Amino acid sequence: MKKANDILSSYGTTIFEVMSRLAVEQGAINLGQGFPDEDGPEDVRRRAAEALMTESNQYPSMWGVPALRQAVARHDRHFYGIGLDWQTQVMVTSGATEALTASILALVNPGDEVVLFEPLYDSYLPIVRLAGAVPRLVRLDPPHWRIDPESLAAAFSDRTKLILFNTPMNPTGKVFTREELELIASLLRRYDCYAICDEVYEHLIFDDRKHIPLMTLPGMAERCVRIASAGKTFSLTGWKVGYISGAADMLSVIAKAHQFLTFTTPPNLQHAVAYGLAKPDSYFDGLSRSFAERRDFFAGGLGDIGFGVSPCGGTYFLIADYRPLGIDLPAGEFCRLLIEQAGVAVIPVSAFYAGEGQGGPTDHYVRFCFCKRREVLEDALSRLRRFAGQCRRRAVG
Ligand code: PMP
Ligand code: GLN
Repeated sequence: MKKANDILSSYGTTIFEVMSRLAVEQGAINLGQGFPDEDGPEDVRRRAAEALMTESNQYPSMWGVPALRQAVARHDRHFYGIGLDWQTQVMVTSGATEALTASILALVNPGDEVVLFEPLYDSYLPIVRLAGAVPRLVRLDPPHWRIDPESLAAAFSDRTKLILFNTPMNPTGKVFTREELELIASLLRRYDCYAICDEVYEHLIFDDRKHIPLMTLPGMAERCVRIASAGKTFSLTGWKVGYISGAADMLSVIAKAHQFLTFTTPPNLQHAVAYGLAKPDSYFDGLSRSFAERRDFFAGGLGDIGFGVSPCGGTYFLIADYRPLGIDLPAGEFCRLLIEQAGVAVIPVSAFYAGEGQGGPTDHYVRFCFCKRREVLEDALSRLRRFAGQCRRRAVG
């Protein structure tokens, strides 16, 4: 038999699916895959149910229902002062995952270079490679995940087509500063490149930080698309409704990829998201406040147990170093032990680095998803406390 696609065949099942499956099998608390354990606003869900009965259920325009495209344009003006023509500068996709794939496929030619930061969200690299582009990885390391300006500049060249990055950043919780965005902008101008900005956690940003789309920096409007997701903004990750906004010239080609990938997205969900995006500021403020409270509670608990917890300015995730507990296992093994002995599932941070095998510099960090109900976080902390106690007793004994 001839072989199937080499690139896809070389990947295993994603770590999120693997850990969620193990969590179910072992009856563990799942702090691995990033999803809230409470569904988003009831009125948004009711609007989706109602739209099934009152709106058309046939193919909507491949660009998305006008109500949602208009709502995205209004949202981007309201929050960031971005002026968009909803007809040519906003497109609805089946989740941010599809938006990312369509954008990469649309913007690169085989042989083009794409600059990415490690740790990487899992879908970026396979799609860049499938498109025949050459990844140029710039490494960020815990606990502060700072960008080294020289390493970033060294990743750019005349062959660079685009940069793809994520702020607030999964899995690190890093929020890119204005200075970092200015550095990226200067490199985009110097090398005449595009940016795909994965901003799915735009409303999950904490401590009075303001989300800054790269697109709002001088000269960036014609070089950027930004990608967001109703899954994150409304705690409805299963809906897979995403949207891309930005430069019309970029969007017109991204639409060509989208028409051959999914073409469209369930119309009732689009109507409900349009309704949700028109919610008052208090909704968006409340969302980030409630997640920041959980971050504080969980980070405090992990710190008390003895984990070395990295700062987190946004997202669903906290990163922790377990070496202070006296454990010196590779992260993959630690995660398995944690599921089996503590009954808590987490994700090894090494999974977000390309080709970082056992023993790499991040091989003792794990990602905890904290967007869970208080009692679930309390239960997880007491399991982790018991586990840490056992480890300490074993180390002493
Ligand atoms: N980008 C990042 C950084 C993510 O964490 C996620 C995960 N949910 C996605 C994209 C994909 O979002 P969606 O579920 O809307 O496809
Ligand atoms: N974004 C989620 C995470 O980082 C997972 C999404 C998925 O499983 N594809 O955990």
